[in-house]
This record gives sequence, C-alpha cells and structure tokens, in this order.
Amino acid sequence: MKIQNFINGQFYDPISNEWIDNYCPASGEVYGKIPNASKADVENAYIAAQSAFPSWSQTTLEERSRILIKISELLEANLQQFAEAESKDNGKPISLAKSVDIPRASSNFRFFGNAITQFASESHDSIGQQAINYTLRRPIGVVGCISPWNLPLYLFTWKIAPALAAGNCVVAKPSEVTPMTACLLGNICNEAGLPAGVLNIVHGLGSTTGQAIIEHPDIKAISFTGGTKTGAHIAKIAAPMFKKLSLELGGKNPNLIFADCDYKDMLKTTVRSSFANQGQICLCGSRIFVESSIYDTFKADFIAQVKQLKVGHPSETSTDIGALVSEPHLDKVLQYINTAKQEHGKILCGGHRTIVKGYENGYYLEPTVIEVDTNDCTINQEEIFGPVVSIMPFNTEDEVLQMANMVKYGLSASIWTNDLKRTIRLSNQLQTGIVWVNTWMMRDLRTPFGGIKASGIGREGGFEALRFFTEPKNVCIKY
Ligand code: NAD
Repeated sequence: MKIQNFINGQFYDPISNEWIDNYCPASGEVYGKIPNASKADVENAYIAAQSAFPSWSQTTLEERSRILIKISELLEANLQQFAEAESKDNGKPISLAKSVDIPRASSNFRFFGNAITQFASESHDSIGQQAINYTLRRPIGVVGCISPWNLPLYLFTWKIAPALAAGNCVVAKPSEVTPMTACLLGNICNEAGLPAGVLNIVHGLGSTTGQAIIEHPDIKAISFTGGTKTGAHIAKIAAPMFKKLSLELGGKNPNLIFADCDYKDMLKTTVRSSFANQGQICLCGSRIFVESSIYDTFKADFIAQVKQLKVGHPSETSTDIGALVSEPHLDKVLQYINTAKQEHGKILCGGHRTIVKGYENGYYLEPTVIEVDTNDCTINQEEIFGPVVSIMPFNTEDEVLQMANMVKYGLSASIWTNDLKRTIRLSNQLQTGIVWVNTWMMRDLRTPFGGIKASGIGREGGFEALRFFTEPKNVCIKY
C-alpha cells in the first residue's frame, strides 16, 4: 500500500522519490510505503494553501460549517474502514479505534463546524470618550499542524478542524509512524467539497518534512502535539520568526487516591487510565499514589484486575491491550522497566515482552505494575508512554500534593475522594492544566485543553483553539 502526499486536492509521489517503510505493529511486518516529503513538497503544499486562502477566508461561516459537518458525516459513514486502518497502523485494539478514535475525529469536525458559527468578538463602548472599539478575529493565513502517533486521526483532526473553521489554509503532517488515516482523510475532504488547497497533507520524517514546515518563513503558526524535546526544538526554530505556537507535549500524570473514594469506580477507572491504548495516551495516570489505609487492598485488587487484561491481536474484539506502536518504542519501554529494577522498583505484575500466537514478531508487552518507594526514581520522573505504571502509598494530603507536583511535567491529574473541601484545596494547588475529580479523560470539547511546565504552552479546544487560529485586530472609532 503506497501513501502519497495530498496537495491541492490531488495525490502526488514525493518529488525526491524518497520513501519510508510503514510497519504493522501487530505483526512487525512492513505493509506499505510513505513519502519522505522534502522542502520542495512542503513548498508545493504551501503554494497550494496560499492560493486557496483568499477565497477560503472569505467563504461564509455557514458554508465553512456545512463542509466541515459533511466531513464529519463522511467519517462516521466510513467508520469501519477508518477504524481498521487506524488499528492496523497503530496496533491499538479495533474496539478502541471504533469507539474512541474515529468517532472523536468525526466529532472534532462537527464541533468546530458548529463552534465557528457561534464565535464572537468583543466590542467596547468607551464611555466618556465618544469612541467605540471592536475586535476583529481574522484567520492567520497558512498554518502548520503536526501530530503524533498515539491517537493518529483524533489528534490530527483536533488541530485541522479549528484551523479550517477559522478560515485558515493548512499544511499538515501526521506522524510518519501512523500515516494511514490522514491519507484516507484526503479523499473524504474532496468528497465533502472542501476546495482544493485548503487542506494539504504531507508525509515524512520529523527531521525532513516536519522541519521544512516549521522552518517555512510564511507558515505563520504551528500547532504541535508530541514529545517535549521536539516541542523545545520547534520553539527554538519558530521564535526568531515570531510564529504563533501551540505546544501540547508530554505528561507524567499523578492519580491521587484517597480512602474515602468510591472504591469500585476508582478501581475500574484506574485500570483504564493506566492501560488504555497500551498506556500510550499523554493523559494516562502513570504515577498512582494511594492513601496508606487502603494501599494493601488496592494493590491486591488492582493487580488482580490488571492480570485479567487480555493482550492480543488488535483486530480481535476481545483484546484489551494491543501492540505497542513500534519496535524502537517497545525497546524504550523495556529499558525503563530495567531501570526501575536497578533502582529497587518491585515488579508486581508484567514486565516482559510477550508473544501473540501467529504474530510472533509483533510488539506486545505485558501490562506492568511497579511498586516504588520514592517519587524521585526515574520511572516516576520520566515519561514512559507505555503500559507501565508505578504505585506507592502516602500518608497525608500535603505529602501526596508535594509528590504530585514534584515532576517537570504538568498536564493532568486525577483525584479520587468524596471530600469536597479536599477536592477544592487540591484542585487549586495541583500544577497541571487539567484536573479530573472522580473520573478520568472525560472530555467536553468546549473546555481548554493543555498543560503547564514541560507539558507545553497554549490551550486547545473550544474557543481557545479558535482564538489560537485567529489574529485579533482592534478597531477604535471616535464618533
Ligand atoms: P514526537 O515529538 O517524536 O513526534 C510528534 C510529531 O512531530 C511527528 O509528526 C514527528 O514526525 C514530528 N517531528 C519530529 N521532529 C520534528 C521536527 N524537527 N520538526 C517538526 N516536526 C517534527 O512525538 P511522538 O513520539 O510521535 O508522540 C509521543 C509524544 O507525544 C509523547 O511525549 C506524548 O506525551 C505526546 N503527546 C502529547 C499530547 C498532549 O495533548 N499534550 C497528546 C498526545 C501525545
């Protein structure tokens, strides 16, 4: 299967004719090729976007909204095809792709298709000065969207949909590790009547294609989701060109579990927040802190539940945990398990690469729980991004708050308690962009999404995203 760049509404081979192998994580086999798009391809994508901009930015909101909602409907209509493609490309269980990834990609287009019709700017009556101020919200022009491999179409469209809704034209790059659904999206956009050049999708390595996007002097804003190191690199390149930046980066999220919580609910959700998508979600709660009085009970119950998770081929509906996304990523996760052992972490379950019969070269790993005795250890400080969590007890609210915050990241946290005052105290003091109380990853697309510290800058979602993808211009009229 050969993937091509989608430029000006058509599919093209890369100009350099350079290709990258595309792997199926479930079998370890190469099953396709993707372009390694060069500067020249990115320039063509930029030219197409720039040419489409005058017309697209002047398209009525009703018409933009209609097209985005049409894309959403077509994604829904092609759910099975997209879910199969996502599962094969990424290794995630088909059930997850079908219930979460693709429906959410569809919702992203529907949500921003609707949101743009409600997006209003401010006006200020300057009383006593005989003047009125109003603020226009204008699209930026050509913007770049770069996304990671863990939630491929979900995160790709989370950027593209608001960018397009706000009237921008886009040069977008999905992860080279999971290019398939982004490629299929090109056809859907044509079918929905999105004018040629409004969305251009280039494929390739971060160091080649991604670098060409961030270095392009006329791509004026970059929305990026990925690793913290890559985010820092992008910021360095973009800053001297004064590009607008939104960076959604890594996380090392704490779960704070108190004895007064709804135990059954907490247990079930904590298994999910640890291992959903093979633990490859930036929001996964990878540091689990449990109040001492229920620690032993939790430990026994949690391990019993984790042991029941079925590692299997992603296409089987009974599979809970599919394959990790790539062999280098699997090796990296295994390396962290080794480091934990060297630092006296106690492996309570899992810890090994495992084999799924018939797919011996697939990248499967047992879900792994490690007991640690300090928050200073490597696995509590660095993002592993795999099916590995640590657990440790705490005695007081102050102690757990300090541990939760003692990390360079600040994306999300979950608190499990029925004490309202404690909820408010902790929510105020946790150094994260998102706090969930008695739940995890419950999303309302109107809310601001993003992190602080090394988890990034800026917020996505709702009007925050539409603000990012527009430039405010104030007009002051004296009358
Ligand atoms: P990554 O940083 O390696 O790659 C992300 C994207 O950036 C890919 O498309 C890649 O090709 C591109 N890229 C790499 N180098 C580049 C360069 N020099 N210039 C431009 N683009 C470049 O991240 P990944 O391994 O794909 O994803 C995993 C990371 O993403 C984890 O750290 C995870 O926490 C993070 N993530 C964050 C969020 C969030 O919302 N905060 C969501 C999902 C994933």
